[in-house]
Amino acid sequence: MLEITLPDKSKRKFDKPISVEDLAMDIGPGLAKATVAGRINGVLVDASEIIKKDAKVEIITSKDDEGIEIVRHSCAHLLAHSLKQLYPEVKLAIGPVIDNGFYYDIQLDKALNDNDLQAIEDRMLNLAKTDYKVVREVVSRKKAVKTFKDRGEPYKVTLAEEIPDEEIIALYHHEEYIDMCRGPHVTNTKHLRAFKLTKVSGAYWRGDSKNEMLQRIYGTAWQSTKDLESHLVQLEEAEKRDHRKLGRQLDLFHFQEEAPGMVFWHPKGWTVYRALEDFMRIKQIESDYEEINTPEVVDRKLWEESGHWDKYRENMFITEIDEEHANEKRTNALKPMNCPCHVQVYNQGLKSYRDLPIRFAEFGSCHRYEASGTLHGLMRVRAFTQDDGHIFCTEEQIEAETKSFIELLSVIYSELGFKEFEIKLSTRPDVRVGSDEVWDKAELALEEAIKNLDLKYEISEGEGAFYGPKLDFVLTDALGREWQCGTFQADFILPERLGSTYVGDDGEKRQPVMIHRAILGSFERFIGILIEHHGGSFPVWLSPIQAQILNITDKQGEYSEKIRDLLQKNGFRAQSDLRKEKIAYKIRDHSMQKTPFLLVVGDKEKENETVSVRARGGEDLGEMSIKEFMGILKKKINAKE
Ligand code: ZN
Repeated sequence: MLEITLPDKSKRKFDKPISVEDLAMDIGPGLAKATVAGRINGVLVDASEIIKKDAKVEIITSKDDEGIEIVRHSCAHLLAHSLKQLYPEVKLAIGPVIDNGFYYDIQLDKALNDNDLQAIEDRMLNLAKTDYKVVREVVSRKKAVKTFKDRGEPYKVTLAEEIPDEEIIALYHHEEYIDMCRGPHVTNTKHLRAFKLTKVSGAYWRGDSKNEMLQRIYGTAWQSTKDLESHLVQLEEAEKRDHRKLGRQLDLFHFQEEAPGMVFWHPKGWTVYRALEDFMRIKQIESDYEEINTPEVVDRKLWEESGHWDKYRENMFITEIDEEHANEKRTNALKPMNCPCHVQVYNQGLKSYRDLPIRFAEFGSCHRYEASGTLHGLMRVRAFTQDDGHIFCTEEQIEAETKSFIELLSVIYSELGFKEFEIKLSTRPDVRVGSDEVWDKAELALEEAIKNLDLKYEISEGEGAFYGPKLDFVLTDALGREWQCGTFQADFILPERLGSTYVGDDGEKRQPVMIHRAILGSFERFIGILIEHHGGSFPVWLSPIQAQILNITDKQGEYSEKIRDLLQKNGFRAQSDLRKEKIAYKIRDHSMQKTPFLLVVGDKEKENETVSVRARGGEDLGEMSIKEFMGILKKKINAKE
């Protein structure tokens, strides 16, 4: 007798071994149809796997996270199968699952283009429609190696040779095509319907630039065609909003080879940056932060004391001393973070418990060496400016500081157009410093603060840093994508390492707790997020040009300049475009620049001392006085619209 326990604790008895598929059928034909795999006593298996002993069994469908991954992985096999049919000479490397899809790396002399991708995808669809069975076969390494040698697959031979002895090697037979994989896979291609090949790019074999370049074919796969379509719409929208593309189109910034991962801000981009910085500065001053500024180039001695030299050196830019300066025998590093410098400011002069909390803020310019392959526009750079801050306080003050920080962060996110954010609380890891008592207090303080604010949060057990628990704040943008921006991190170790103290109410010297915190993360990345969130149509207060004046003919040139001067004098960002172009052309041009207001001036407006206002998106607000227009502008700016 075989007894199977299902996730709802119900039990089913069978008088002989049964496959996961047949178990699903026994539960119901609807479930059987959706079954892509199973889980026996916690181990993921193919749906064809036979359950031989009493076990806990779970049926996995494509609605489950693991299920959709299996579908994606099986799609990678289907892709390889099609390739092999269309290009028998193709050599297959690896075909893993990635976010939302899969890829396959292949060696093929012909460079694949979009038409080829379409043909491959069509072949995949046709193959899938035959609903063929996918058969798993466990083999010895010797057999796997021989199989791929016989089939002329050198990459697969290498991979098979490297599989450790203790691992099971499984071959998956897709009719005439064979792949090697840990599995599980769908047992029938009927589960593979909602997929699409998205692009092809280059990729080195094993990610190593010393190796040959292969072609990587990307695809996306979903549980239903509806999910696939909505993903494709989202992809298209994301591409339209790509901050690198909009950065060029709106003339905001550029990058170049001489300074990888470092931004060249153009006038318009820098205006956005400055507007954001001014906004943050005011908010921080209102929250009782004191702004400071600390050196960017700092002796290695300080980094040794702080522990960065040991733990973080490979990410630091270290300065070489040339002949000329050899008499100053120093090795410096560009600061990768501001914390040790803030401690230096704290350490000046004796501090008493009455001085705490002390809150320092710095728009700190940092440099970190990131591998060039990981750089991505403004989202991942090597030089960036954090909206950094450090709070020095007592253990008792952590809760109140947490609360006021989250309040500040909520206001800032909301005014920046992000109404929703998530909080993650990361608790003590196995390897840590500090007594359990201190951790108890700190974790509780963070959690109590969130609870008191009536906010939802998730706990990431054991994910805290070794020096203290932390909160992460994750924004959701207009496309529903998540961005981790804010952090709030208690630190019990750095004040100790760098000798920070305060005198307690009993006259004894104590160590303050240091809290590292940021709201935006870095200005660069946050502006990247803002560009994509708003699709380049910045709210008026952040727009590099708030009002663009367009004259119809030369006769209103002087009048245009007069309006521009008046707006500028009143603190608005205005420009006039006096080019001898048709007005329709100028309107189109500045609409492409996503300028919030276009002010058209012709003879009538000049004579009436008015402007004709066109709002972004084409709405005609009609003719009005400059004063009236400034009222509208002011209202929008104050409302952060
Ligand atoms: Zn810090």
